[in-house]
Amino acid sequence: MRAFRAVGGTPRFMVSGTGPYLTDADGREYVDLVCSWGPMILGHSHPEVIAAVQEAVSRGTSFGTPGEGEVALAEEIVARIEPVEQVRLVSSGTEATMSAIRLARGFTGRAKVVKFAGCYHGHVDALLAAAGSGVATFGLPDTPGVTGATAGDTVVLPYNDLDAVRAAFAAHPGEIACVITEASPGNMGVVPPADGFNAGLKELCAANGALYISDEVMTGFRTSKAGWYGVDGVRPDLMTFGKVMGGGFPAAAFGGRGDVMAHLAPAGPVYQAGTLSGNPIATAAGLAQLRLLDDAAYAKIDAVSAELRSLVGDALTKEGVAHTVSAASNMFSVFFTDQPVRDYEDAKKQDVFRFTAFFHSMLEQGVYLPPSAFESWFVSTAHDERAVERIAAALPAAARAASEATA
Ligand code: PLP
Repeated sequence: MRAFRAVGGTPRFMVSGTGPYLTDADGREYVDLVCSWGPMILGHSHPEVIAAVQEAVSRGTSFGTPGEGEVALAEEIVARIEPVEQVRLVSSGTEATMSAIRLARGFTGRAKVVKFAGCYHGHVDALLAAAGSGVATFGLPDTPGVTGATAGDTVVLPYNDLDAVRAAFAAHPGEIACVITEASPGNMGVVPPADGFNAGLKELCAANGALYISDEVMTGFRTSKAGWYGVDGVRPDLMTFGKVMGGGFPAAAFGGRGDVMAHLAPAGPVYQAGTLSGNPIATAAGLAQLRLLDDAAYAKIDAVSAELRSLVGDALTKEGVAHTVSAASNMFSVFFTDQPVRDYEDAKKQDVFRFTAFFHSMLEQGVYLPPSAFESWFVSTAHDERAVERIAAALPAAARAASEATA
């Protein structure tokens, strides 16, 4: 994504960020709607986060022992997200999902993992069988380097399709360890769960002795104070977190039911460890950021997101461009189609070439969008009136470019 493969052109090398703005190596400033793919929910270089990092760094960078920061961060997560009875810190979202499915397999004694096409859970080998093509349905590897044996226990299903999940449980009785899903997907563009989908997953898992794993790496601490759990209230067995909880540093986590987490080493037999897990700088940054994310902060982010969604929608409508602005709380993206998007197959039917034209026009005018039609746009508390005005000023020309684009 960073390499601009999906949109073409030269990727921008950023050298600094302040509030809602990024500055590239040529000194050009952009309003940032990527926010480091989610983490920078307070904008860049937030003074309180920077101060917490500087204070932590002055005391040393890694000790390889228990530390106060990791306990405080763990307590903050447990306090916000009620289903998390115990939590383990790791260093990336990938590690969190990888460890969560290992734990689910260890706990249930089963091998198979159900995931949904278009959901991304990091570059865990077993979870890369994903991209919605016909072969993915059979759990064949999507990427060279992932062997058939590694992906063979992965069952890939269409998103938002409970019947498909029911059929998978019927086809593999007693074999499915867990169903892992993005709490509300943002990696095929924003495609929220249909009413009752997550609750249905939870029910089917419970009825079949499998664990329901909600991947909140993207939605966690972003879509509400308690992430997507705070929106739909469906109680997962295990959850994964990353992005926002690290405050721009590598900190992530997985956690959930105490009886399941008790199977993790050293208390239980399922091994998991990490040299830099609970790193003092990362935990200081994450904690400083989470402590600033109160109700007022979420109200601000939600309001900016709503305003931008309406500005983008209006601009595209004015130019007659078929589109759907799709939102899940304050996460949103634009599909260049007027057909409903409920899964990855639907998302792929959009006019990607129109997004490409739209993206480059916005970039030229100093607005940095995710360089892909299949990614969420992110805003922060720092996106103030001036930043929104700059985006609004760029939209008419970008909408025109999208309208004039040819495949
Ligand atoms: N899960 C979800 C839902 C994600 O969006 C991502 C990253 O975008 C990951 C897991 C992987 O996280 P990381 O990039 O920190 O390994």
